[in-house]
Amino acid sequence: MTAAPRRRSFRVLATLLVLLASAPPAGATVRVSWQPAQPRAGDVVVMRVRGVPAGATVDAMLDGHPIALFPTADGHAGLFGIDMDAPAGAQPWEVTVRDGHAVASTTGDLPVVARSYTVQHLTVARSMVELDPATERRAVDEIERLRLTYRAISGERLWRGRWVRPVAGEAPGTGFGSRRVINGQPRAPHSGIDFAAPVGTPVVAANRGRVALVGEFFFPGRLVILDHGLGLYTVYFHLDTIAVAPGQLVARGETLGTVGMTGRVTGPHLHFGAQVGATRIDPAVLLGLADD
Ligand SMILES: [Zn+2]
Repeated sequence: MTAAPRRRSFRVLATLLVLLASAPPAGATVRVSWQPAQPRAGDVVVMRVRGVPAGATVDAMLDGHPIALFPTADGHAGLFGIDMDAPAGAQPWEVTVRDGHAVASTTGDLPVVARSYTVQHLTVARSMVELDPATERRAVDEIERLRLTYRAISGERLWRGRWVRPVAGEAPGTGFGSRRVINGQPRAPHSGIDFAAPVGTPVVAANRGRVALVGEFFFPGRLVILDHGLGLYTVYFHLDTIAVAPGQLVARGETLGTVGMTGRVTGPHLHFGAQVGATRIDPAVLLGLADD
C-alpha cells in the first residue's frame, strides 16, 4: 500500500531535479510584449514573444484561453480578441517554453480598458422586428450557423501584410458597438462597422483568406464570411451580388461581390465585421494593424 506513493514521490523529486538543473536557460531570455499595451474592449491585440531558444516550443494563454502563435522574423506572434463587451480589469497571461526537459513559464497581467458605446435609434419595417414563429426559428438557426462557423479554428495563417478597406473611399466605417434601439425596442449591439455606398459598389477581401460561408440569411441578407486562419474571420453582410464560392481561396483585395441592401437595412451599405473565434472585435482595428 505504501510502495506506490513512495514511487510517485520519487518520480516527482526526480522531475523537479531535472527542472531545477535545466530551467534557467529556457525561460530566462523570453520577452513578451503586447500591442496595444492597454487594449480597449473590441481591440485585437498582437502578442509578441521573443528570445525563445531555437528548437524550443512555446505556448501562450490569456485569461485562460490559448493563443495560437505563428513564427515571425524575430520570434513568435499571436492575435487575441478582447470582446466588445469585456469589462475593465487585468487579464492574466502565461507563456510556457519547453526546451527538451526544461519547462519555464513567464506570467503577467494585461490591463483591459472598458469602452462605452453610443445609442443608435433606427426605424425599419415592422416585419423585420416582430417576427412570426417560423421566421424567428430561421433567424435563431442562422445565428447558430454563424457561431459554428466562427468556432472552427484552422491551423494555418492565411492573412499576410496589411489589411485593406473592403470598399473604396476615405470615410471610416461607423457604429461599432452601438446599443441599438430598433422601432423603440432595445436589440443586440452592433458588432461591426458600416460603410455607406451605392448598390453595386465592389466589395473586396480585407486580406487573404478562404471563403468559409456564403448564404442569404434573414438579418444579414446575402453574406460572405472569410476564414483568415488561426480563428480570425471577417464578415461581409447585406450584399447585392456574390462573386465567390465556399472553399475558394481569395487574395487581399479580390472582389467578393457588391454592396446591396439585402436583410435588415435602412439603406444600401456594407456591414463589415471581424471575429477571433467567438469574440466580436472592432474590424477598424484590423485595418490599423502593422505588417507581420
Ligand atoms: Zn452593420
